[in-house]
Amino acid sequence: MANIPSVDSVELERQAGIMQRIYELNTALSSPPLAFVDTYGCQQNEADSEKIRGMLHEMGYGFTDDEYEADLIVINTCAIREHAEMRILGNVGALVHTKRKNPEQKIVLCGCMVQQEHMIERIKKSFHQVDLVFGTHELYRFPELMDRMLSTHKGRIFEVRKIDGERVEGLPVLRQDSVKAWLSVMYGCNNFCSYCIVPYVRGRERSRAPEAIFDEARQLIDSGYKEITLLGQNVNSYGRDLGGDTDFSYLLSEINKIPGDFIIRFMTSHPKDATDRLFQTMADCEKVENHIHLPFQSGNDRLLKAMNRNYTKQSYLELVEKARSLMPDISITSDVIVGFPGETDEEFEDTLDLVRKVRFDMLFTFIYSPREGTPAAKMPDPFTREEKQRRFDRLIALHNEIVAEKQAAHVGKVARVLIDGESRKDSRGYNLTSRTSEGRLVLLKGSKELIGQFRNVLITDSTTWSLCGEIC
Ligand code: SF4
Repeated sequence: MANIPSVDSVELERQAGIMQRIYELNTALSSPPLAFVDTYGCQQNEADSEKIRGMLHEMGYGFTDDEYEADLIVINTCAIREHAEMRILGNVGALVHTKRKNPEQKIVLCGCMVQQEHMIERIKKSFHQVDLVFGTHELYRFPELMDRMLSTHKGRIFEVRKIDGERVEGLPVLRQDSVKAWLSVMYGCNNFCSYCIVPYVRGRERSRAPEAIFDEARQLIDSGYKEITLLGQNVNSYGRDLGGDTDFSYLLSEINKIPGDFIIRFMTSHPKDATDRLFQTMADCEKVENHIHLPFQSGNDRLLKAMNRNYTKQSYLELVEKARSLMPDISITSDVIVGFPGETDEEFEDTLDLVRKVRFDMLFTFIYSPREGTPAAKMPDPFTREEKQRRFDRLIALHNEIVAEKQAAHVGKVARVLIDGESRKDSRGYNLTSRTSEGRLVLLKGSKELIGQFRNVLITDSTTWSLCGEIC
């Protein structure tokens, strides 16, 4: 496999030995120490936290959601927007109180935010309650770093390497959900969109070997998982670093062949790499759900160029047309940035025009947030926050109107759903959540025993963000 080093089995066995040693110490205690793992950001971070939990489980830890009760707090951070970072730092700041109550408590920060030098300096200077900081490339070394923190080491530990990334297989995983599972197919990103910090903090694209992915998919299906979501920053470039013909469409069609009653989702797809072959494969594979998340970010060609996105409004519209010609009911969701540096009112109108034309099923809308170290953060930006907010509000109003219309059109229809969990208490008595093939949320009434089952439901009502249904 091309140029990307792998962490060898000797090193992984060494980490496993350290986990065993910590396990023996912890199980000799009258009760197991408790860990609180707090995760911010994307699904990739959720998947990483499942590995952190897996390693902690192997080290004999139990789990709690109570920061005061925890012997160990691990915060898996996100760097995608300034707002997320401020929230994380606020929460880390508040941990002085938990540590004051329990001076033996250990606090660990990891993930994308701490991969940035200015953040490390800030934590060193202002967050003395933090005991261990490790970067995204050190995840497999968590046992060794835990060991140093808990035993020999005096003082705080900072372990953050600036590397392109390594391939690591075989870390233990403790999953949070028993119906839906994340399955990472690749790590990192090569695209360097001008506003995005991800390639700097997560390294270059590293595709996992297809056999490792198929093995994990088989294990998940054998364990009763019903929904597998294949994860990558840009799944459409899966396999390029492996050499040969292996691509994401091949992964989808091979996983689709595994026997069993389950469904396949994936995210995220970069429009520049979405191909006819991908859409044809989606249409051909009955287990691949009828949904694609295809971030467009802006409807204006000058901005798309400044963002380094490598497609145009027209080519994006052609992709949508292609997808809908093969899968007429496909749901298309997307991300959009409002107020990219220098975006004018006229350029923003192109974004509204694209939204009107595509009629997205769901949009994740963001006001541009400068990320230190990215090219966009140095671009002149003459527009005020208030102007950007006004544009943002117009976009939301348009999108909400479209979604409400689209949702209402489902009332009276029958859909197959996967019942995936309990809903928050609802005055109308809905207590279960489910998703259609298109990813639409349908609230249902029924016994908890139904969780994990596929059922046909009659859609009886709609709101902007959910549908209500009755099991047929
Ligand atoms: S494709 Fe662009 S936006 Fe997505 S993670 Fe890579 S650089 Fe960031």
